[in-house]
Amino acid sequence: MDLQWVSEKIQEQGQHPRTVYQTGARPNGQLCPPRRAGDQTRSSLCLGDKQSRELWKRADAVCFDVDSTLCTEESIDELASFLGVGEIVAEATARAMQGDLPFEESLDLRLGLMQPSSDQVQEYSQARPLHLSPDVAGLIDKLQNRGTKIFLVSGGFRAIIHPIAEALRIPIDHVYANTILFKEDGSYAGFDHTELTSRSRGKHAAAVAIKEQHGSKSLVMIGDGATDLEARQEGGADMFVGYGGVVRRPNIAAAADWYIDAFGSLLEAL
Ligand SMILES: [Mg+2]
Repeated sequence: MDLQWVSEKIQEQGQHPRTVYQTGARPNGQLCPPRRAGDQTRSSLCLGDKQSRELWKRADAVCFDVDSTLCTEESIDELASFLGVGEIVAEATARAMQGDLPFEESLDLRLGLMQPSSDQVQEYSQARPLHLSPDVAGLIDKLQNRGTKIFLVSGGFRAIIHPIAEALRIPIDHVYANTILFKEDGSYAGFDHTELTSRSRGKHAAAVAIKEQHGSKSLVMIGDGATDLEARQEGGADMFVGYGGVVRRPNIAAAADWYIDAFGSLLEAL
């Protein structure tokens, strides 16, 4: 991570840099090597086609990533663009990914650049509602009707995700996402570090918690990115379905138990 660059950008936004940013860089200032999806996963756990289809039929919990999976947008990028800092947040995200910055620090960095107020987040939600991916509402409806519990597991923000959950009849306690904190005057005050999804491997922690709390025996995680794939590690999701309908990522396709480009494939296989 380019610490001087981050310092300058945060100061421009009126916030002092925190020491937490420094942990992403090596002592000599070199960036950590990028992590490949294959490094995070478990080829020994990978299911075959027949096993995947069988597990899908009996899944009792299905977790959806939100950005570029349940919905066609990347909501953090969209919020940044709404706030007029889209380019700088996109650059910070790219640099954070190159530097292998832990998720919590990357979230702190991006929110620090955005400094969203309570009013701005509400205005954003109303002005730019998220759009569901094709066929996903029908899939969730069919899963719910057969008794499968649906969860949303996202590195994005509750203020933006809760309206979508309500529209899909997903209980709020089935949503694992991040909470932006505000001061009394509504200005930005950081984020809730106790949310499981605010940390690296947070989606794996969420999958573990869901299995414990709901007694799920066959939990499926569906998502487009590396943080979703992490949920498939030992003790977490029993199957990972990669979704390439918004963004196709070859490394995710290679590591997924099952890779789809459209939710119709899962609907047909129920
Ligand atoms: Mg995503």
